[in-house]
Amino acid sequence: MPLDRRMFLAAGAAAITASSAVARRGFAQPAEGVSRMKAISSANGLKAVERACELMSGNADTLDAAIAGVEIVEDDPDDVTVGYGGLPNENGVVELDAAVMHGPSHKAGAVASLQNIRHPAAVARLVMRRTDHVLLVGEGALQFAKAHGFGEENLLTEKARKIWLYWKESLSGSDDWLPPVYDDIDPDVRRFFKIKPTDAPPGPKTTRRHTWNYERPNGTIHLASRNAAGDVSCVTTTSGLAFKLPGRVGDSPIIGAGLYCDNAIGSCGSTGRGEANLQNLSSFAGVELMRSGMSPKDAGLEVLRRVVATTEPRLKDAEGRPDYDLKLYLLSKDGRHAGVSMWGPAKFAVCDENGPRLEECAALYERERS
Ligand code: ASP
Repeated sequence: MPLDRRMFLAAGAAAITASSAVARRGFAQPAEGVSRMKAISSANGLKAVERACELMSGNADTLDAAIAGVEIVEDDPDDVTVGYGGLPNENGVVELDAAVMHGPSHKAGAVASLQNIRHPAAVARLVMRRTDHVLLVGEGALQFAKAHGFGEENLLTEKARKIWLYWKESLSGSDDWLPPVYDDIDPDVRRFFKIKPTDAPPGPKTTRRHTWNYERPNGTIHLASRNAAGDVSCVTTTSGLAFKLPGRVGDSPIIGAGLYCDNAIGSCGSTGRGEANLQNLSSFAGVELMRSGMSPKDAGLEVLRRVVATTEPRLKDAEGRPDYDLKLYLLSKDGRHAGVSMWGPAKFAVCDENGPRLEECAALYERERS
């Protein structure tokens, strides 16, 4: 049973120091100079960072706490970018990627293109702890998970299936699939594609008496955790790019790309266009820039600038700005943190002695606020 808030506060205060129990807004503050316990994540992880902190308050290992946090999102059918309910590949099959990295041991584990297993991050932890390898993929990863007692299940929810089917039916006017007429479109599908009725004749993005607007959703959860002793771990878990080519592996399960931590420095992880991180080893770069003395925010923004500099023209707008989004979440060993985003406004989640909250990312480029 999850700890309730009072237990979290009590346990958190005890874990920091008995003499630090100065109450502000009901939350115990750490004594000066005493390291803070902290978890940060992508914006979809507000409950996840809280759970990670609750567990660290009870002295859980930083990685175990992080994985327990992201499992909330892996289980959530409404988050169509992670675990159960994630959007499938172009054939309608959910393929999950996940990786974990444990600061104190500097060990890592990962799975890619894993089907039918709802908690890929827990499988990645077993790859780390119970094999001499770092990455297992596809059928081999599935067999490994089953050997460790994970049950297979269909991860494709009705909501995700309907969204995928509409995408498939609306892709092209020159194949044999036809999208439904407006009145027959499921409300979840209408919301996802911002579908509106219209009298306009059929054309691109106007079909069968409605218009649709598809922006590939960004998702994934990355979570980094730091305990009061300054140990750092992190995890990234995702269903990857929606409607991807079967077998496509993103940055999330690749150590150094979708996440990286060094217990002497801190951690960095990412969500957004995986290919950009794979080409730039962004998370490793983020940690290395912190090692050189940069703050988490400056290190993150510098990585984003490097990514922009290597982005091919096909993916840039008329002003030379990337047409995709990318976010990095950085947590230093001494407890400082930052979320940075290619495009703002954007948020990320933080939990420490002040409780869980969303904070604003520092952004390289700003979109108009609506
Ligand atoms: N980084 C993920 C991937 O490329 C997707 C995302 O975060 O939106 O698979």
